[in-house]
Amino acid sequence: MVQTQLIDGKAFAARLLAEIGAEVAGLRETHNLQPGLAVVLVGEDPASQVYVRSKAKQTVLAGMQSFEHKLPAEIAQAELIALVRRLNADPAVHGILVQLPLPKPLDADAVIACIDPDKDVDGLHVVNAGRLAAGLPGLVPCTPLGCLLLLQDSLPSLSGLEAVVLGRSNLVGKPIAQLLLQQNCTVTIAHSRSRDLPEICRRADILVAAIGKPEMIKGAWIKPGATVIDVGINRVAGLEGKTKLVGDVEFAEAQGIAGLITPVPGGVGPMTIACLLRNTVTAARRQAGLNEKEST
Ligand code: NDP
Repeated sequence: MVQTQLIDGKAFAARLLAEIGAEVAGLRETHNLQPGLAVVLVGEDPASQVYVRSKAKQTVLAGMQSFEHKLPAEIAQAELIALVRRLNADPAVHGILVQLPLPKPLDADAVIACIDPDKDVDGLHVVNAGRLAAGLPGLVPCTPLGCLLLLQDSLPSLSGLEAVVLGRSNLVGKPIAQLLLQQNCTVTIAHSRSRDLPEICRRADILVAAIGKPEMIKGAWIKPGATVIDVGINRVAGLEGKTKLVGDVEFAEAQGIAGLITPVPGGVGPMTIACLLRNTVTAARRQAGLNEKEST
C-alpha cells in the first residue's frame, strides 16, 4: 500500500502570493511601476460576484491597483467592447479580465478577441493559445499554470513522465496538456469520446482530471504511486441537506494508491487567483520592458 501525500495548494498559493507581494513592492520602489488589474463583471451572477470580489481583494493585498467595472446584464455588446478597448489603451492597466460566463446574448469569444493579447491575463485570447502551442512567451491560463507550478514543486522532474489529461477544454485541458508537453512529458488527452478511460488512466504517472464529473475517477483507475491533480470542482449533496465540494476523483479510494494528490477543496482551486496575479506582474514587467523574473 502506498503512503499517499497531499499536495497543499492552499499553503503553496499563500507562499506564491507573498512572493508576488514582495516583487510588486520591489517594482514600485525601483521602477515606480505598480501593476494594475482591471476586472469586468457583467450582470449579477452570485458566483461571479464572489470571484470578482475575491480577485479585487487579493490584488490590493499584493500592492497592485485594482480597477473594477460592474456593468448591467443588459449592456450592448458594442459598449462592452468599447470598455475593453479603453482598458487596452490605459497605461495603468496591465491586465484585463472579463469574468465569464457572460449573460446572454453577449458573445464571450468576440469580447475576448478584443482584449490586447499582452494584457490578456486569463490567457484565453487565441493569440495566447497559439503562443502556448508554439512554445513562445505569452500569458498562460491561470488554472493550468497553477497545476504546473504544483507539479514542479512536488516532483523532482517531469521529463519523460507519462501524463494523462482528462478533459480538452480551451480553459483547462488543452493548456495543461501543452504545458506538460513543454516539460517533456509524454501526453495523452482523453475526453468524453475516449474508449476505455480506466485503461488510459492506469498508464499515467501524472493524472490530471478536468472533466467536471463528481468522483468519476475511481481508485482502480490510478497507477500505484501516481501524482493526481484534481481540477474538478463539483457541488453535490452533503449531510443535513447541505452541499459539499468534491473533485473529479474519488478521493477516499485514491488514498493508499496515489503517491501524491490534490484535495478538493484546498488543492488546485487556491492557485487560480495567485496565478492571475502572477500573470498580471508578468504582463506589467513586459509592458515596461523589464526582464522576465520567472518564465514558464
Ligand atoms: P468543460 O465542461 O469545458 O470541459 C469538460 C471536459 O471534460 C470536456 O473536454 C469533456 O469532453 C470532458 N468530459 C466530460 N465528461 C466526460 C466523461 N464522462 N469522460 C471523459 N471526459 C469527459 O469544463 P472545464 O474544462 O471548464 O472544467 C473542468 C472542471 O474543472 C470543472 O469541474 C470545473 O468546475 C473545474 N475548474 C476548476 C477551476 C479551478 O480553479 N480549480 C477552474 C476552471 C475549471 P468533450 O470535449 O468530449 O465534451
